[in-house]
Amino acid sequence: MTEIPPADQGVPTTGDAGGVDGRLPTQGGDEADGRDHEAAYDVITTPVLVIGAGAAGARVAIELAESGLEPLVVGKRDYGDAHTTWAAGGINAALGSLDPEDNWPIHAADTLNEGHHLNDPEAVELTAKHMPDRIRELDEWGMSFARTDDGKINQRYFGAQSYRRTCFVGDRTGEVMLETLIDRAQALEIPYRENVMITRLLSDGTRVDGAVGFDMETGDGLLFRTDHVVLAAGGFSAAYRRHSSRDDENNGDAQALALEAGARLLDTEFVQFHPTGMVGERYGDEWDGRLVTEAVRGEGGRLYNAAGERFMERYSPDQMELDARDVVARAIAEEVREGRGTEHGGVYLDISHRDPEYIHERLPTMVDRFEGLGVDITAEPMEIGPTAHYTMGGVDIDFRTGETGVEGLYAVGEAVAGVHGANRLGGNSLAETVAIGKLVGDHVSEQVTAGDDAPTVTDGQRALAEREFRALADLAASDGNVAPRALLEDLGELLWNHAGILRDEEGLREGLERLAELRARTANLRVDGDRTSRSFEYAVDLSMSLIVAEVLLRTALERTESRGAHYRTDYPETDPAWRQNLIVTADESGLSLQRRGVAEPSEPVRAALEEGYELDYHHLE
Ligand SMILES: Cc1cc2nc3c(=O)[nH]c(=O)nc-3n(C[C@H](O)[C@H](O)[C@H](O)COP(=O)(O)OP(=O)(O)OC[C@H]3O[C@@H](n4cnc5c(N)ncnc54)[C@H](O)[C@@H]3O)c2cc1C
Repeated sequence: MTEIPPADQGVPTTGDAGGVDGRLPTQGGDEADGRDHEAAYDVITTPVLVIGAGAAGARVAIELAESGLEPLVVGKRDYGDAHTTWAAGGINAALGSLDPEDNWPIHAADTLNEGHHLNDPEAVELTAKHMPDRIRELDEWGMSFARTDDGKINQRYFGAQSYRRTCFVGDRTGEVMLETLIDRAQALEIPYRENVMITRLLSDGTRVDGAVGFDMETGDGLLFRTDHVVLAAGGFSAAYRRHSSRDDENNGDAQALALEAGARLLDTEFVQFHPTGMVGERYGDEWDGRLVTEAVRGEGGRLYNAAGERFMERYSPDQMELDARDVVARAIAEEVREGRGTEHGGVYLDISHRDPEYIHERLPTMVDRFEGLGVDITAEPMEIGPTAHYTMGGVDIDFRTGETGVEGLYAVGEAVAGVHGANRLGGNSLAETVAIGKLVGDHVSEQVTAGDDAPTVTDGQRALAEREFRALADLAASDGNVAPRALLEDLGELLWNHAGILRDEEGLREGLERLAELRARTANLRVDGDRTSRSFEYAVDLSMSLIVAEVLLRTALERTESRGAHYRTDYPETDPAWRQNLIVTADESGLSLQRRGVAEPSEPVRAALEEGYELDYHHLE
């Protein structure tokens, strides 16, 4: 329904106070400036709004629909185009297809060990326990998992896992998984709106009444009125730009939206640097940082420095290339720093000792991609280096329900923190999306009452939305001389240089100073006119990324120890006193940081931890 908004009602609540520095859409949204920012906007009412159409959003929506509700799913790309499709290597579940000794407590123990015991044990256990059922369900829904000769779902090794636990579809696991979920969602006739960018949640800081955004194809404003919003909008490692395995869309929208709405963020200092990103100097800018799947190492890929040494023998003689991602990434960074890297600043990853037919069968995407770049990976090595890949930090939730502490706001998937602790076990993020997605969908469906179907829109809610629309209009009209894209690139360099693999106090403080300078430059943005332009999208992205960049730098500075993916050269040891989560909240006066102790795992997981399972790498030799 398109409506002409009524005269401005003022700003009745506090949630839109713009207390977090750098949020561009609130800047210049001055109601008294006399300019005509008013435009038609659509009002859409729905019992549940799911923001994000990756695996997490899709799985929540399926559960809601199966409970008889009709949620609305929105995503800022075409249907089926989410980062989930990029996941190549696989999804973890202790099925024991090849290693019958495997079970959920060992899966949980591996996850806690890899997360350096900063994970939320309940989140880990829920994921590990529910995954075998979620895999069987995906199988029933038609996901074409690789099979063993006797028809079981096949499982491969992945880094730092005690057993073969990673289910896969060649190296297209995420793509096939999202196709399967979308088929299911379409069979349930779940409505989906493509190319919608949410820019703000309607919140007074204690409860959420909907969300505001725009249609990226028409530029029209959109006001979604609902009592239940599920944030499934992904992580923030694309803030590292060219030093990232991610595309433009993983900018931290979920975390920025949640923080502004009054929710807490958790452990944002932990960014996983995947050891094997493509080295752009060699393969070209568009490939810079793009992932070479861990499955290459899972299938026996070996790492060599420029001198031809298999250097992991020095860093991890037992687990070698399949040690944890942080260990392998730091080893590569160290080799390059000490002059044993390639001329392009990487090292070599080689799988050519394996049979070409096997490589074609197990790694078809990698074979094709490199073939297109003139490299035959069945005969020669790839050139790789670490790349920002996954943000373990995110929205702080209760994993049984998805609740954020702000009434009506739930979160799930890569948007949240807790399952992965200080470092993510490969194959666990796809697992989290469906294991926790189902639980959250289940809980939200119980919260929806009959009257929620068509919630009314109050004057106060309209006023909040209109303030956002004016701010967006102002942003679109920015006629300075700084391209938003250029600032995003500068922000990526800043994060890589000051909050990269190796961090210290001086560098982090300097990073914060440079962030303030970068933020000052946003006063002079140039946006090419309308709200369908790429420059407008980048300007909105920038507003989100600036928030998460500040949170990231502040928390990385606060954590004076090294743990998992967070490595401080000035505090190289893990400090047991720091086995605490860092919580971030925001209000008008800025960000506040607090510590919270970590709970202990349950008895079966403690037993698995004590047993001390570990991958015997030499299985693979
Ligand atoms: C190259 C690569 C390889 C990977 N390999 C693996 C692997 O082998 N195994 C594994 O477990 N994990 C892997 N991962 C991680 C895994 O893919 C993700 O963690 C997981 O898919 C996240 O799913 P999600 O649904 O939470 O988010 P996403 O799939 O990122 O979906 C986010 C959704 O939110 C939407 N959105 C974002 N912002 C907004 C906004 N402001 N308004 C509206 N919509 C918005 C997006 O359009 C999208 O629809 C890999 C990731 C990458 C990039």
